[in-house]
Amino acid sequence: MDINTQNKVRVRFAPSPTGHFHIGGARVALNNFLFARHNNGKFILRIEDTDPERSKKEFEKEIYESLRWLGIKWDEGPVSFENDNQKVGEYGPYRQSERREIYKKYLQKLLDEKKAYWCYCTKEELEAQKNAMIADGLIPKYPGHCRNLTNPPLNKKPQTIRFVMPETKVEFKDLIRGKLVFDTTQFGDIVIAKDLESPLYNFAAVVDDFEMKITHVIRGEDHISNTPKQILLQRALGFPELIYAHLPLILNPDRSKLSKRFAEVSLLSYKEEGYLPEALINFLILLGWHPKDDKEIFSLEELIKEFDLNRVQKAGAIFNEEKLNWINSKYIKNLDLNELLIKVKPFFLKENIIASDDFILKILKIEKERMKTLKDIISLSKFFFELEDYNPKILIWKNGTLEKTKEILEKLYNTLQLLNESDFEKTMLFNKLTEIINLGNYSRGEVFWPLRVALSGRESSPDPTEIAEILGKEKSLERIKIAINKLK
Ligand code: GLU
Ligand code: ZN
Repeated sequence: MDINTQNKVRVRFAPSPTGHFHIGGARVALNNFLFARHNNGKFILRIEDTDPERSKKEFEKEIYESLRWLGIKWDEGPVSFENDNQKVGEYGPYRQSERREIYKKYLQKLLDEKKAYWCYCTKEELEAQKNAMIADGLIPKYPGHCRNLTNPPLNKKPQTIRFVMPETKVEFKDLIRGKLVFDTTQFGDIVIAKDLESPLYNFAAVVDDFEMKITHVIRGEDHISNTPKQILLQRALGFPELIYAHLPLILNPDRSKLSKRFAEVSLLSYKEEGYLPEALINFLILLGWHPKDDKEIFSLEELIKEFDLNRVQKAGAIFNEEKLNWINSKYIKNLDLNELLIKVKPFFLKENIIASDDFILKILKIEKERMKTLKDIISLSKFFFELEDYNPKILIWKNGTLEKTKEILEKLYNTLQLLNESDFEKTMLFNKLTEIINLGNYSRGEVFWPLRVALSGRESSPDPTEIAEILGKEKSLERIKIAINKLK
C-alpha cells in the first residue's frame, strides 16, 4: 500500500535519552525510516528530553552514534546525520528541552479555554483520594478535585496542570492493528505538565507532532494506551488527527517478554560483538514484517522498495538469536576477503594481536565460512598465534592407539622435514600426506586427524594442510614435535 496523501509523508522517531539505545528503539527508527523513504517522505529525529533529571547528553550521543552505525539517516534533527555541529531541518529546535516557549503557549491556551486547569492537590492528598476510591470499590483515578475551582485555594501551591479528559469513546484506525476503540472514562484528568515550562510526554509529543507537521506516528505497541490521550489532546488544541501504526512487541521464542539480555543491552554492543549493521537491519525488519516471498536477505535499497506496513503482523514478533547469527553469517560470507579484512582488523587490535594483513587474509580465507560474527575470527584463529595446552588423548583418532598415533606423527615429522619452505603449500602437503597413507596402509583419519590436532591443539579446526600452509614449515614441525612429546 502506498500512502495516498496530498501532504508529504513526515514521520518521526522520538527517543528519550534516558538510557542506553536498545534494539527496540532501533527497530522503531528503522520502520519509520523505511516508511519515509518508501513514500518519498521525510524522517525526523526528535529528542524527547523534557525530563531534566533522567535525560543525559551521553545517551543522546549514543542515539546518534547507533543510528549512524546502522545507516539510518535522518533528514531533520538536532544535529545532522553527518555532523554533530550542524542542525538540520526547518521545524526545529528538535530537542524538546529547547522548545519550552512553544509548549507554554499551548498550555496557556488550554488553561484559558478551561480545557486544562491547575491542580493543587499534594502527593498526600492524591494518595488519600485514591484510597477513598478504592474503599468505595471504584477503580482509582484522579477524581477531578480541582477541576472547577473558581479561586486558587488559600496557602496552597499549584502542583501540576491537568487536562479535562472528555469521557468518551475514541476510535482510530491503526495501520497495523485495524480499527481500535478506547473508552476514556477511566483515564481521569491526566497531568500534562508540572508547570507552564515543564510539559510531560503526552502533551509535548502532541504539540511537536503538530508543529513538525508529522503525518504518521509509527511506534511500539507499548505506546498504544497513550494514543487515545494524544488524540483527545489534539482535538482540544484543534490539531488535525494523525495516522497511527503500532508495531508488535518483541518477544522471546517462548512468547514471554523479551529477556533483559536482549532488551536492555545497548545496540552498540552488537557492533562490539561483531555484527554487521546491514545484517542487524535485515534482522530487525524481519521482526514482525513478512516479505512477499520467502526471501530473507535484503539490502537496504530492496527494503525501501518493498517496505509495507500492511504486511506487519499484529502478533508479537519473536526475537530469535540463531536467526540473527544466521543472517550475520550470510552477510559475512558475501563479503570479499579484502572487505572482511578491514572489518576484522579492529577486533585483532582490541585483543592486542599483532598480525600482518597478509597473515589475516590467509586466516580469513580458511575460516570465513565458520564465522557467525566478526569477533568469531579471534577465537577461531587464536591457535595460529599461540598453541594452547591440550590433552594428548585428543590426538588419537577414533579407536587408534597411542603408539600408532605416535608412529604416524613421527613419520609425518620426518617426511615434512624434507620439504622446502616453498613446498609448504596445500596441494603439495596433501600429496605428501596421501603418500604416507598409501605407504603405511593407514586410513585418512589416522593421518589427518592427529596432524590437525597437533597443528591446532583443537578437535575442531580447518584442514591440516591449510593450517600448515599458514603456519609454515618451522612452526608446523615444532608443533608436531610437541605432539610427539606429549605422547611419550
Ligand atoms: N519519547 C517516547 C519514547 O521514548 C516516544 C514515544 C512516541 O513515539 O510517541 O518512547
Ligand atoms: Zn487537584
